[in-house]
Amino acid sequence: MSITVETHCPYCALDCGLKLQVDQGRVTGSTKWKGSPLSRGGLCTKGITAWQQVHHEDRVRTPLVRWDGRLRPATWDEALDAAANGFLKLRDRYGPAVNAVLGGGSLTNEKAYLLGKLARLGLKTPHIDPNGRLCMTSAGAAAMQAFGVDRAMTPLEHLPAADVVVVVGANLPDAFPLIMPLVTRARRRGTKFVVVDPRGSKLVKDDDIHLAVRPGTDTALAAGLLREIAVLGGVDWPFVLERTTGADDAIAATEGWDLERTSLTAGVGITEIARAASWIAGARNGMILHARGVEQQVNGVQGVLSWINIALARGWAGRKGCGVMPMTGQRNGQGGREHGQRCDQLPGYRSIDDPADRAVVAERWGVTPEELPGRGRTYVELLHDAERGAVKGMLVMSANPAVSGPNGARIRRCLDAVEHMVVVDPFMSETARYASVVLPGNTFAEEDGTITTTEGRVVRIDQAVPPIAIRSDLDVIRGLAHRLGVRDKFDFHTGREVFEELKALSAGGIADYSGMDWDALRDKGGVFWPATRDNPDGTEILHTERFGHPDGLARMVPVVPSGPSTLPDADHPLVLTTGRHRDHYLSGNQTRRIPAQADRASAPILEVHPRTAAVMRLVEGEPVEVTSHQATITLRWAPNNRLRRDTVFVAWHWEGVNDLTDDALDPISRIAAVKHTPVAIRPAVTT
Ligand code: SF4
Repeated sequence: MSITVETHCPYCALDCGLKLQVDQGRVTGSTKWKGSPLSRGGLCTKGITAWQQVHHEDRVRTPLVRWDGRLRPATWDEALDAAANGFLKLRDRYGPAVNAVLGGGSLTNEKAYLLGKLARLGLKTPHIDPNGRLCMTSAGAAAMQAFGVDRAMTPLEHLPAADVVVVVGANLPDAFPLIMPLVTRARRRGTKFVVVDPRGSKLVKDDDIHLAVRPGTDTALAAGLLREIAVLGGVDWPFVLERTTGADDAIAATEGWDLERTSLTAGVGITEIARAASWIAGARNGMILHARGVEQQVNGVQGVLSWINIALARGWAGRKGCGVMPMTGQRNGQGGREHGQRCDQLPGYRSIDDPADRAVVAERWGVTPEELPGRGRTYVELLHDAERGAVKGMLVMSANPAVSGPNGARIRRCLDAVEHMVVVDPFMSETARYASVVLPGNTFAEEDGTITTTEGRVVRIDQAVPPIAIRSDLDVIRGLAHRLGVRDKFDFHTGREVFEELKALSAGGIADYSGMDWDALRDKGGVFWPATRDNPDGTEILHTERFGHPDGLARMVPVVPSGPSTLPDADHPLVLTTGRHRDHYLSGNQTRRIPAQADRASAPILEVHPRTAAVMRLVEGEPVEVTSHQATITLRWAPNNRLRRDTVFVAWHWEGVNDLTDDALDPISRIAAVKHTPVAIRPAVTT
């Protein structure tokens, strides 16, 4: 008998709803779920074909253990024993900090929570960090500093209520396709769009203002805009005086950033900057949507703060059609950073450094605060630590740094240096090649749990079919925990059981899920956090009366414009910026295996402005050699006349692309600056 199961797309954090068709224990297709939140049945090409990953021939169907240099099939007990024993041996010899865990923003909230608990109680290591460190941490750090809360301020459905929407470094049509119907509705209603993007995505229409910012100069552009808004009398002083602190200093930091200097630095015309400032200054309601373009920089936190200053100066907070919206690229990039799989954080978005927060978590977990490890190292740092021998054991779940890590050749050396690597993945990822043990992971159809959309809406996913390799990811975590000696603290069998512990522990934290009800999550079409016992329906619009800081005020933080760590020079005159292709997800570990997706985009293609291509003597159809300070690789290329002439672009879903990128890190968020890499290009020598 055929049934349908309502669930959510496993790719970007719009988490569009879909119905999986299940026939005799197999997923055979998917249909629209017209009642689903936000997308109302819409799906992009990735979402339409997502079901095809479930029974894909490339699935890892049995545990694998490396014997005599080769990964060979093993029983679950053999593989879990090998996995746990490897970590225990290293811990006995070198201490607990020799082991590290790399998690992922695609994990359900429940798995993210349990992975943090496993690292701290089972492995007893401080070192756990998710791949979200590569994408969301600049946004999170800036939001926490400015608002005391790291969550989008309002539902995306409110977009048409904005007079102006500023899109900063966010390729909406390709990375978040199902937001485009809302964009169209907003345009019809008269919403104006300012698009800040050196590439000029398909989002830009004739009536928009396109600020094709020079990569790495976002803080200068924002400074010039804020200064001009102030000159135009656009600062909402009643709001600023009542609800923020630091405005005088934040505006003073823009001193000297007049239109001319801003234009010269950011590479954008004076007229465009002035028009954008005038639109923003005149809009009562406005929203700022930002993503990796501004965040993956050595000054990524400062970049986000500089745009937050503009929103606060205009009073764009606390009501419909207003807000700052970090656009999360991974399915659960929001929830994945709330429940304790970050090295600096405990469940409920609690601080790992705060004694009161530590006490709450320790009591719930049945340990003393002293037994809870402290702050660990971040994602890229942990990989680099392996190269120098400080990390020798690594558990990798839902991450593929061999493709996504910056300065790829170095990342591969780091992975090679790990003595004992355990990878949990539905597919044999590029990272799994380095593993001592590979444990079959679940796809989205084989698990139940919750995920949190980019808006902060918690939605439920339901299991459609049993795990094809018998064990669920929760079973895997529990099996490891038992072998690591903490059996009594991991007595979980279903996502619902984990959710109940997670939500109880979140009570009083920043990301408070305590009032949510498992069944009601489905009935209500999701619930926005915070949702407490007094407010089980949750909170759609944040900061209506108070911001998250104890005094209730938002912080306007002075941002002194700064640039990238490495500037273009005569040998590397162009800037490479990377991003996403509409038809692939992250490292491509899932989408590259799906024929329709692979057919639409089978390889990375370097986009070059036609005039730049002419200067560099590139020939259409012939490959191009791209050289950065890190590496030289050969790519196909295609002209793109929307690009800046000094900038080239490539999507990073394939191994080798990130060989080019820089691994300099933002000093606060520790995000890698992959959006700005000086490069040279020339025709590749073909034989
Ligand atoms: Fe929706 Fe994103 Fe999935 Fe596309 S990839 S269907 S936009 S959740």
